[in-house]
Amino acid sequence: MHSFDALAGGWDAVCGASGARGTLRLSAFRSVRRLPGPTAPPAHVVRYRCGCGDDHDLLMSGDELDWAPIRSAFGAHYDLMTGRMGEDPDGGVDLWWRSMRRGHWPVVLHCAHHPNPVPAWPSCLRALEPDDERAVSHLLVHYECPLCERRGTQLMRPQALELVPRLH
Ligand SMILES: [Zn+2]
Ligand SMILES: [Zn+2]
Repeated sequence: MHSFDALAGGWDAVCGASGARGTLRLSAFRSVRRLPGPTAPPAHVVRYRCGCGDDHDLLMSGDELDWAPIRSAFGAHYDLMTGRMGEDPDGGVDLWWRSMRRGHWPVVLHCAHHPNPVPAWPSCLRALEPDDERAVSHLLVHYECPLCERRGTQLMRPQALELVPRLH
């Protein structure tokens, strides 16, 4: 189980080479492959670029991929009244709900077959090709549109792949 840390902005992941713990951000994803077969919930093999410089594979459920970021977002917060870290289990869901009503979904796709931006999820991504692996300024993102199931590509900045709710 790979939990999502909203403050670090990614899932926890352990480097297969060094054993070092790290944060796996969506912009470090290089491919997402849904495993064939009637698995419920669906399982995905995520290949990502690790801090060690190699690519590693991670098995992630659809739930970890799409829902963990929303459930966790800022659920833990510093409580000024008690001076301790507080836990608000619904905090993240509420923030994301407000964000999504403003059109800021976890992933926003621009499929050529729809007039408006398409609300999407990390599991809709299929491959990410950075312009420069050492200093990424753009990624060519290949996706499968959740509305029409057609494949498409779009250019995205890493900032557009940050899994944070936006309230303005
Ligand atoms: Zn590694
Ligand atoms: Zn579409």
